Amino acid sequence: MKRKRKDEEAGTSQELKRPSPTAGSCTSLGCGGRGAGRRRDWGCGMRDEGCGIAPGALKAGGRRGRRGGGMSEVKVAVLGGSGAGKSALAVRFLTRRFIGEYASSAECIYTKHLCLDGRQIHLEIYDPCSQPQQGKFSLTDELHWADGFIIVYDISDRASFAFAKALLYRIRESHIGVCKKMVESSIFLVGNKQDLCHMREVGWDEGQKLAIDNKCQFCELSAAEHYQEVVAMFTKVLRSITANFKVKEKRRPSGSKSMAKLINNMFGKRRKSV
Ligand code: GDP
Ligand code: MG
Repeated sequence: MKRKRKDEEAGTSQELKRPSPTAGSCTSLGCGGRGAGRRRDWGCGMRDEGCGIAPGALKAGGRRGRRGGGMSEVKVAVLGGSGAGKSALAVRFLTRRFIGEYASSAECIYTKHLCLDGRQIHLEIYDPCSQPQQGKFSLTDELHWADGFIIVYDISDRASFAFAKALLYRIRESHIGVCKKMVESSIFLVGNKQDLCHMREVGWDEGQKLAIDNKCQFCELSAAEHYQEVVAMFTKVLRSITANFKVKEKRRPSGSKSMAKLINNMFGKRRKSV
């Protein structure tokens, strides 16, 4: 997989720069607002803090969900078949724009600072280069990296639905055994291109059923026509991930508490039942 890193000054660019095909570089985006640091209210409890968006590389590690200064770090991977609209969704959310053509030769990580329900969030969105819809895929890097997944299919393309199903199974399979006691990753299944419903190949109820069977959220929308729905979907994903962080924090005893527990277990008084 080709990975490039290119940091960009926060919010200085307003244009989407297309990479030259030979250079194979990542797309770099501006915030879509005028000038750096401009705040924008999205409604639904989320506010764009106006910081930059920079592509990068998948890098697992560190304690999940934590970042300095009380900021939560949230990582979302947008996966799905080639042409399903992954880049369109990510770019729509980040810039409000639907530009029609998106570079697909290199994977990108877009970063953004935002405020959700009063909580500061450093968001990273992973947008892979076009994946082959057949053959084996391991998803190992993505599974280690992401806190949540948006699985996209095109409602006018049944093959993309089959691929989304395979991705969902792969993610679910990874949860079995490995992290039984952990809260599972947040997953959102998205049927994109709802504006093409006259060419529909996948029914709404099929998407809904797949989501229910795999315990994930579901919606149909159009990255081309539904900006508010795209924002609402990302908001739900972020809420679900941050709620998971809170549950995990509660389950994990603090260092001193767990040490005290250990010492108590080894040397402490044992209660005798009378
Ligand atoms: P990716 O390979 O999954 O990243 O797909 P892209 O985001 O590059 O989109 C593939 C093609 O589908 C592009 O030509 C987009 O303009 C188009 N597209 C994406 N979303 C929509 C949508 O909601 N409606 C329609 N009609 N076209 C879309
Ligand atoms: Mg793409």
